[in-house]
This record gives sequence, C-alpha cells and structure tokens, in this order.
Amino acid sequence: MARVYNFSAGPSMLPESVLRKAADEMLDYQGSGQSVMEMSHRSKVYDGIIKEAEALLREVMNIPDNYKVLFLQGGASSQFAAIPLNLSSKSGKADYVITGQWAKKAYKEGSRYCNANVVASSEDKTFSYIPKLDKSTFTPDADYFYICMNNTIYGTVYHELPDTGDVPLVADISSCILSRPMDVSKFGILYAGAQKNMAPAGLTIVIVREDLIGHAQDICPTMFNYQIHADNGSMFNTPPCYTIYIAKLVLEWIKNEVGGLDKMYELNVKKAKLLYDFLDSSEMFKGTVVPEDRSLMNVPFVTGNDELDAKFVKAATEAGFVNIKGHRSVGGMRASIYNAMPYEGVEKLVAFMKKFEEENK
Ligand SMILES: *Cc1c(COP(=O)(O)O)cnc(C)c1O
Repeated sequence: MARVYNFSAGPSMLPESVLRKAADEMLDYQGSGQSVMEMSHRSKVYDGIIKEAEALLREVMNIPDNYKVLFLQGGASSQFAAIPLNLSSKSGKADYVITGQWAKKAYKEGSRYCNANVVASSEDKTFSYIPKLDKSTFTPDADYFYICMNNTIYGTVYHELPDTGDVPLVADISSCILSRPMDVSKFGILYAGAQKNMAPAGLTIVIVREDLIGHAQDICPTMFNYQIHADNGSMFNTPPCYTIYIAKLVLEWIKNEVGGLDKMYELNVKKAKLLYDFLDSSEMFKGTVVPEDRSLMNVPFVTGNDELDAKFVKAATEAGFVNIKGHRSVGGMRASIYNAMPYEGVEKLVAFMKKFEEENK
C-alpha cells in the first residue's frame, strides 16, 4: 500500500513511525492486555501515559514551572469563549488583532463575554500580511491581548511578538505548536487544537500561567474553567485518552528521532525554503503572502487562473499529492507542510510543479 503525501491543513499527516508504534501497541499496550482505547483513564497504566505526555511537552517546549498544562476537549474553537470567561474579570476589556478567520472568530466569540477591541486587521488585503502594530493604540488596562500566531488559512505568521507590557499575551498556536522553539514565558496563555501538528483531533492543549488561573467570571461553565482542570490534573472528567497517547508518541518522536525543537525548526525552514524558492522563481505559480510574514507551515499559492488552478489540483491529487486545494476564501492551492511532512514530500511536490509548469506553458 502506497501512502499519499497529505498537504491538508488539518487533520494532517502523522509521523509514520508514530503510526507504526501505535499499531504495534494497539491490542496490548505494554503488557496491560488491552488497547489504550479501552483502559480506564483512572488506571495506573493510563496515569503513566498522561503524566509522561505532560512531562515530554514540558521538556520539549521548555515550559517554565509556573505554567500549567491542560489537556482539554472542545477544540481550539472552545477556547475562543474560555479565554474571556477565564481572564476577563478585571477591567472586562481585551485587545484583538484580526489576521484571519480564526482570529476573527475568536474576536466575535470573545465579544460575547468581554469588551473586545480590534487593535488592527489585515482584512483589507485578504489577510496576506501581519499588520504593523502601534503600542499607543493598545488598551493599557486590558485583561489580555489576543493574537493568532500562525494563520492556517492565509499562510502568515508573526515573526515578532507585540510588546504588551504587563497585559498577558494570549496566542492561538494551533497550526505552529512544536514547529520551532518558543519562549513560553512571553505569553500568558498558549493554546492549540492538536490535529495540525501534534495528534489526531479531539485534544486541545492549554498552557496557562498560574497567576491567570482562578479569576473566572461567575458565568463561566465548570467545563470551561481552567481552575477546575488544573486542580484535577486534566481528569475532572474523562480526557481524550487515546489522542493524548498519540501526542505522547509524537513528542517522543520529536525528542528522540528528530532531536528536539531546534532540529525540528531547522528541518521546517529547509522544507519551506525549498517551496518558497520555487514559488519565487516560477512564472506560473505565485505565493500569496508578503515575503516577510510567510508561514513555515502553510503555503498558499495561485497561478492567477482559476481553470489552471483546478487542473493543477486534479493532476496533483492523481499523482498522490492530496488535499492541496486552497481555502475557498483565498482560492488556488495551499500546501500545509507540518512537522510530519517529510522533506522528500516537498521535494517531490516541487518537481511535480516544475513539470506541470513545463507542460502547461
Ligand atoms: C484549525 C484551527 C482552529 C480551529 O480548531 P478546532 O480544533 O477545529 O476548533 C483554530 N485556530 C487555528 C489557528 C487553526 O488552525
């Protein structure tokens, strides 16, 4: 059986060695006589799995001790409400930068639970850049400042963080978690749906500074309250057990096979460069993002001709490069090249694009 190169924005590829390990352990996890899917989340053996997953995440991401790691459900989208419900109980104000659909959705949902203010937006140019921020426009007493770090649909990323002073910076890192080293101490909250770069769907990671826990609004539902989950070690109710187990395998892969996040970053830079260099030299294919804000993870591109785009997507799919159609709001193509996409996958895609260009001049 041949595996395809899956360029989906999410759920996306997982490392093959992780899938093999999961297959090996499917029927009998380390002599327990059962699959991780079947075991009680309160069992000793499962307790070992979730503790190890957290320890690995802390080690790989270098998470300081004054941050809690929560394993939640509800997807990144649930955090759009959870963040104001947990943080916005002081001034009731929050600042948002609108850099795409996910940031916009977070802002809209946030507006239901706090006084949400738009500091800047790049909607005027289909979110093809990260707006320059002027600190004098920030709300000085905001309860938090919100950004979407990597914009999955549009292919932009912040290369420089906004200077928010004492206002906690909250970042959605769903599509760039574990793609590079990050200074966690610069953030109040980092959170991510796991299905882009970490595990299958069903798990949401929240990394939250301890002093931001315990101030939830009265109306905050119990299941959205960070305090409840922090006090119960993410076991207030049944966690997404199997997904956490796969996340553990992915973290082991990053640590032991890749060699940590510095190495992961090197690899991601090398992969993205190959594709961007080709886009910059091609007469047919063009990247849609300003060069200085380009994402390492999501690479949108177009030919400028809808029919040719459609022809390319069809030919690519037939050749085993799947899910490369762009988001409907940008059109064209998008290659999501997350951690698990091998270098060889991008190499083959570029070779395919060159050939397509030759044949369709
Ligand atoms: C995919 C994505 C989301 C939505 O995640 P869900 O887990 O489906 O709710 C939010 N933000 C970003 C940046 C994403 O890429």
